Amino acid sequence: MRRRRSAKIVATLGPASSSPEMIAALFEQGVDIFRLNFSHGSHDEHAARLDAIRKLERRLGRPIGVMADLQGPKLRVGTFAGGPVELKAGHRFRLELKRKTGDVHGARLPHPEIFKALEVGTDLLLNDGRIRLRILECGPTFADTEVIAGGELSDRKGVNVPGVMLPISALTDKDRDDMRFALDAGVDWIALSFVQRPEDVAEARKLIAGRASVLIKLEKPAAIQRLDELIDMSDAVMVARGDLGVEMPPEDVPSLQKQIVRACRDAGKPVIVATQMLESMVGSPSPTRAEASDVATAVYDGADAVMLSAETAAGQYPREAVGIMNRIIRRTESDPHYRGIMDAEHWQPQANAADAISAAARQVAHTVGASAIVTYTTSGATTQRAARERPDVPILGLTSDMRTARRLSLVWGVHSVHTSDVTSFASMVQKARAIAHREEYAGPGDKVVITAGVPFGTPGATNTLRIAWIERE
Ligand code: PGA
Ligand code: MN
Repeated sequence: MRRRRSAKIVATLGPASSSPEMIAALFEQGVDIFRLNFSHGSHDEHAARLDAIRKLERRLGRPIGVMADLQGPKLRVGTFAGGPVELKAGHRFRLELKRKTGDVHGARLPHPEIFKALEVGTDLLLNDGRIRLRILECGPTFADTEVIAGGELSDRKGVNVPGVMLPISALTDKDRDDMRFALDAGVDWIALSFVQRPEDVAEARKLIAGRASVLIKLEKPAAIQRLDELIDMSDAVMVARGDLGVEMPPEDVPSLQKQIVRACRDAGKPVIVATQMLESMVGSPSPTRAEASDVATAVYDGADAVMLSAETAAGQYPREAVGIMNRIIRRTESDPHYRGIMDAEHWQPQANAADAISAAARQVAHTVGASAIVTYTTSGATTQRAARERPDVPILGLTSDMRTARRLSLVWGVHSVHTSDVTSFASMVQKARAIAHREEYAGPGDKVVITAGVPFGTPGATNTLRIAWIERE
């Protein structure tokens, strides 16, 4: 089953998309990776979704990626005894560590570390940035604030402290518990929310211990300051525009998106553009023009993947959302100007064999008019370096490791195939031909460019490029 596009689709599962039939339908429409969002739902619910995905994978014989997205240290106010309250600009509002329930004068904020990091003049944003509070006075257990921008506040609404490095780990107790569960269940990525510093990634990596890939969500200004280090330490990246656009002014988000995508492409790490891509489709069967344009922009930028959140998790039109996203990507990639726009920035190969072969493969495939590049890979690294070149033909990633095959589903332009190892040069060439043909990437008489490491079975030894023909029948 061949997808005729290079950019991938990540879709979040939730109440609107939990039945095996719906999960199969979403895959059919174009989903490459499913996201389990641990900010919502029970372990049983996530286990049932994962089970449905793995059954579908077996039935179709296609590797499917699964991401467990941890909630992270999302700060929230407590509850309000009398229901939602309306905060008015100019009024005072008190946040307290120990307060029982909230009312129009104050609320509980059950995070001791936060009070330590606050200073007079610091702004707090509540309820997705709608409410702004400025600190007038604060101590270890309270903060008296002035309401700068008012609005409705209700139970457990989120609190953002933009521009302040919070002295908290990126993993809460709940995250550790969710992570253990997700790793035991066998997910392919662990996504870390609200990463602030390299130590956050190092801590998670130690706990994950190679059992899954590590994806960092960039949604804090502090993380942007150390972007290159953080990208270096992670396996994949998400431009988490939801919280990023609360922590930073919305007008900063477009250029940050481009900066992050550019840095990830340079590093050769997969990058996802996320949140509100087709937001209006939560309640409408078609997107706005601006949303269609937003998806296209990420594709023109050369992002590896675009993501759906509420659209597929809780919306009324999950199938339609994936369907239109698939069509926007395909249409954008077939624009005659797409190549030029995406290639406006192209990074030089690094001084190593894998990059030299990958750059050559792109060039050779283009020159001889090959219909695909076939890469043999163990860890996935070789295939990822080939994708970094953003060649103008699809890349097949052949691997005997099912986990690698699943992880490659996130990578731009890659169609991964789980297959047995090859032991000789002749069988390497023969298998590449056969699989390219079987998977509909090359027909009789077509050429393919093959990259591999010889001798076989040594990871990271890619050193060979071969042009092969598919025999005419
Ligand atoms: P979330 O992360 O949906 O888990 O909040 C994505 C974002 O903030 O954009
Ligand atoms: Mn977020």
